[in-house]
Amino acid sequence: MKTLPPGSTIGILGGGQLGRMLSVAASQLGYRCHIYAPDTNSVAAEISAEFTCAEDDDIASLTRFAESCDVITFEFENVPVDPLHQIQDCAPLHPPIAALDIAQNRVAEKVFARNHGGTTAPFAEVTDRAALDRAIAEIGAPAILKTIRMGYDGKGQSRIHPGDDLDEHWEAVAHQPCVAEGFITFDHEFSVILVRGQDGEIRFWDTPHNVHEDGILSVSTAPAPAEILQQQDDARALAAKMAEAMDYVGVLTCEFFATNEGPVFNEMAPRVHNSGHWTIEGAVTSQFENHIRAICGLPLGDTGLAAKKVEMHNLIGAQADEWQNLLSDGTNHLHLYGKGESRPGRKMGHVTKTYF
Ligand code: AMP
Repeated sequence: MKTLPPGSTIGILGGGQLGRMLSVAASQLGYRCHIYAPDTNSVAAEISAEFTCAEDDDIASLTRFAESCDVITFEFENVPVDPLHQIQDCAPLHPPIAALDIAQNRVAEKVFARNHGGTTAPFAEVTDRAALDRAIAEIGAPAILKTIRMGYDGKGQSRIHPGDDLDEHWEAVAHQPCVAEGFITFDHEFSVILVRGQDGEIRFWDTPHNVHEDGILSVSTAPAPAEILQQQDDARALAAKMAEAMDYVGVLTCEFFATNEGPVFNEMAPRVHNSGHWTIEGAVTSQFENHIRAICGLPLGDTGLAAKKVEMHNLIGAQADEWQNLLSDGTNHLHLYGKGESRPGRKMGHVTKTYF
């Protein structure tokens, strides 16, 4: 295990709020961050030591960036994988490229979870309009059609009800390759958030109970209710097996539905995750700090709860305009990501409440 001393440079691919919070954690430990992102407006770059603004497939810029870094990570799972193979010799990359390969493809992700003993929704790959008919005949409705690549926060998805005109759903996903998933009846949603060090040590945070609205995370609460905790061991075992199989280093998040038949794996994020933002104030060591510790080869920090109960509320779109009201409660921990314009559905910040 190679330990990177403070003062070293951490490269972060992606320039959004996750990169911003990683950069805050890294700077607390004395590291410098170099952000690589295609947009000039990067909320991560504005608080980091260096910024390369270039396209993800600009090999010359990517190589210069990689040569300036001691380790490279990412805050966005849709970073194109092929260019990363070309910079592998410049600096270590954590988590591994294999994790990106799997997480970028909803079919590969489900197959990977099943191969490690997990349960997923019934699914079928849909590559053309005729395949959609076959998939719905096989799976039944209700179902959800999701683009295999690039979907997030409910984007690139279409919910199919019994008797629907499937042409409309095929239009809704712009004829892109999809996965059709059976609709899961679940009691709750939760995520397993773990960190794996370079020596293979795995630590889990308390399991958050996640409530989504319109496909976007709204609230995460820890500890979770008993119905989720009963399923925690099985879900953790699957997440740990998947992490080990990828020789993963860093924070890995797996999202689950809690059903009567046990945990159903939905998807994985090979990165710090919105459902773990509560760990900044609600855990002894945050997901951001432990990700930095893992990729830099430092000992992992304690993942235990730092309060009796913690609640994280996302501020979506205009909800962030309430910042003054939110600050009038002195117990609120307000995080604003510095994004200028509050568009509907855009994650602008979050508020964490800790109860002792
Ligand atoms: P995803 O983009 O896969 O995370 O989906 C966003 C949200 O849609 C999830 O958090 C669930 O609330 C809901 N959802 C996704 N897939 C299913 C499914 N197969 N059955 C029921 N609800 C789902």
